[in-house]
Amino acid sequence: TLTDRLSRLVKTMRGQARITEDNVQEMMREVRMALLEADVALPVVRDFIARVKEKALGAEVVGSLSPGQALVGIVNKELAATMGEGVSDINLAAQPPAVILMAGLQGAGKTTTTAKLAKHLIEKRKKKVLTVSADVYRPAAIEQLKTVTRQAGAEWFPSTASDKPVDIANAALDHARRHYFDVLLVDTAGRLAIDEALMKEIADLHAAIKPVETLFVVDAMQGQDAINTARAFKEALPLTGIVLTKMDGDSRGGAALSVRQVTGAPIKFAGVSEKIDGLEVFDAERHAGRILGMGDIVALVEEVTKGVDMAAAQKLAEKVKSGDAFDLNDFLSQISQMKKMGGLSGLMDKLPTQMTAKAGQVDMDKAERDVRRMEGIICSMTPLERRKPDLIKATRKRRIAAGAGVHVQEVNRLLNQFEQMRDMMKKMKGGGMMKMMKRLGG
Ligand code: GDP
Ligand code: MG
Repeated sequence: TLTDRLSRLVKTMRGQARITEDNVQEMMREVRMALLEADVALPVVRDFIARVKEKALGAEVVGSLSPGQALVGIVNKELAATMGEGVSDINLAAQPPAVILMAGLQGAGKTTTTAKLAKHLIEKRKKKVLTVSADVYRPAAIEQLKTVTRQAGAEWFPSTASDKPVDIANAALDHARRHYFDVLLVDTAGRLAIDEALMKEIADLHAAIKPVETLFVVDAMQGQDAINTARAFKEALPLTGIVLTKMDGDSRGGAALSVRQVTGAPIKFAGVSEKIDGLEVFDAERHAGRILGMGDIVALVEEVTKGVDMAAAQKLAEKVKSGDAFDLNDFLSQISQMKKMGGLSGLMDKLPTQMTAKAGQVDMDKAERDVRRMEGIICSMTPLERRKPDLIKATRKRRIAAGAGVHVQEVNRLLNQFEQMRDMMKKMKGGGMMKMMKRLGG
């Protein structure tokens, strides 16, 4: 990852007060490679590098930072800035019903995202939401929207496949007006590739219903191709926002940077699972960390604190902050919270890449069974052992294994996993990216 590459370089660059042409050149080669590995499109990489170079050259190196660390900071900041600073929710500033048009290639996740957005708007913004499908080419797609709309708790407006998309959308709009809906979400037909006729169709649809938001839905796994798709949609439609789907896949999400640069529209949401609640407000800084290969530690912390037991999560967070050792009681409470949150799968993509690589290969049912077994093992330990896991040597391991009805190897495995988690907690204690960067320099 970029972090690995840079940490090597950073070490060779200490003791200089200024960022010089030489060390910028060398660092930028690494940054370029990392961005390409993350599937950022080449022209976007070039632009980005040029901007960073300009900002970096001659920049003073402050305080305890080395030039390398300072440069990493600049890269990270510029990355986040390029993808949009802060967060931006859906704009509903229109005479109700606010119309939201969904655009994107077939399979990008438009229909799924329509329902996810409906749920988001109902729950977070307390809106009355209607959905309609203008996908007249595939009756199955209309049914699909109906099903997911139900799951979202929104209402669905029926459309007939023999009607024109514009007529369907107008009928839905009329219905939404008469029944005082706040929002109308218009799902559209899939395009397998950029297709002139379909582009015209969606442009006409846009002209007819005048949406306040025109969201470009794009698959994060699309990688290098995302830039061409984005360009074509940008030409056809005045895009107001981007939804990046399938961020739960193993892509590093470089498409975000490409799509954002080409369309100029803010990335508003990230799709993180197939499920109806798998939508997150996009966070550029966190995503910069992902592109840089830092692992989405902030997201992990959020996920953990989102769990049912807020008090326990709070305690854990305080403990981490105060620097107290993370012990097996905390580990146990984390395990049981993961279970409450409906399994491990949602957490996996949030872990740093080196852990995810391993996790990606396990099957989830087995993982859930393992979790239960881990709980069993920890429950066979004494309170002292849980507080001071380092005490657990051979004799204690045998006793614990016998108590839990498992092999000693499983006790070892649990202790290893605990240690990994403890290491991660130690890193988090430092408070985010910049601190970690500082540590890279020693
Ligand atoms: P559309 O053709 O653009 O309407 O795409 P769909 O909404 O039908 O989605 C295509 C496929 O991608 C479906 O199998 C969805 O379940 C899946 N999908 C959509 N968004 C996500 C996501 O954020 N994560 C994952 N893992 N799958 C997704
Ligand atoms: Mg669809």
